[in-house]
Amino acid sequence: MSSGDERLPAEPYSFGCSDRRRESGLQSPSARTDRPSAGRPVPANHHRASLAARPAGNPPNVQTENSPGLSPSKAKRFPKYWWLVVLIVMAIAGGIPAVRLQQYWEQRASCQTNLRRLSTALLLYAQDYEGALPPTESRQGDVWRSWVEMADPYKKGQDIEECPSNPAAGARHATLGYPFSCSYALNYRFFGVFAPGPFAVENVEIPAQTVLLVEAGRMREAGPFGPPASPLAMSAYFDTAQTPRAYPSPHDRRMCISAIDGHTVCVRVAHYSPAWHDPMYGRVGRNVYNWNGGHPNGDTGTPPRE
Ligand SMILES: [Zn+2]
Repeated sequence: MSSGDERLPAEPYSFGCSDRRRESGLQSPSARTDRPSAGRPVPANHHRASLAARPAGNPPNVQTENSPGLSPSKAKRFPKYWWLVVLIVMAIAGGIPAVRLQQYWEQRASCQTNLRRLSTALLLYAQDYEGALPPTESRQGDVWRSWVEMADPYKKGQDIEECPSNPAAGARHATLGYPFSCSYALNYRFFGVFAPGPFAVENVEIPAQTVLLVEAGRMREAGPFGPPASPLAMSAYFDTAQTPRAYPSPHDRRMCISAIDGHTVCVRVAHYSPAWHDPMYGRVGRNVYNWNGGHPNGDTGTPPRE
């Protein structure tokens, strides 16, 4: 009996080595990891024969039990310059907030420029009318005219009536209904409040703390911080607590205002609800008040100089 003819069923996971197997000339336990041959006779030239039987253009399969992992085809799915793609995505994501921030500051600066020029136009108007500002609206025959129209000759043709963050195009006056495409409202207390007719701005006690113009634009849906919902707009500024919808805060919950002395500032609307009234009645923010610099007792019914 030749050792090459006697083939016993292989026991691939058995590391026991019987005398009979040694006699039969079977492969050593390390070679028995060749599992496809389990249970079948394995000729000595098994691997060589299988390679020869494979077609020439077909590469051998390199994935074995002992080397699990990605095949070459899966590895090729990752882009070669994946890090460059990540860098581009990060640059775009980081650039969007910067663009928005720049737009915010540009619109806010443009709004304050509008207010400064409108204030200049109103003060030039006052020079020609004995120090008096125009009424917020006046009737000439059957036609109502707003303060914007009366200040028009002093604006020198500048398009300064709309804040870029708070467009008032197509808006109408809140009560009278005429077109009022202006983002700003005039302090109404300088005409017909303290006495019949105008009140000269030179009588204002603290011009730097007295409001001339505030942002108004379109009315908001729910207070000054809600979205613009109504086509109505206010031409007159009464008080932040009286008609809060007339005082939108389009600049990141702030609104730009100008004082009688001509300086402009962006303030938070802190006191716009009667429920939150404080003794400094009419204050809109940063020591700027609604008409006369603020009486300590909150009185708004008497003129600044008594
Ligand atoms: Zn504005």
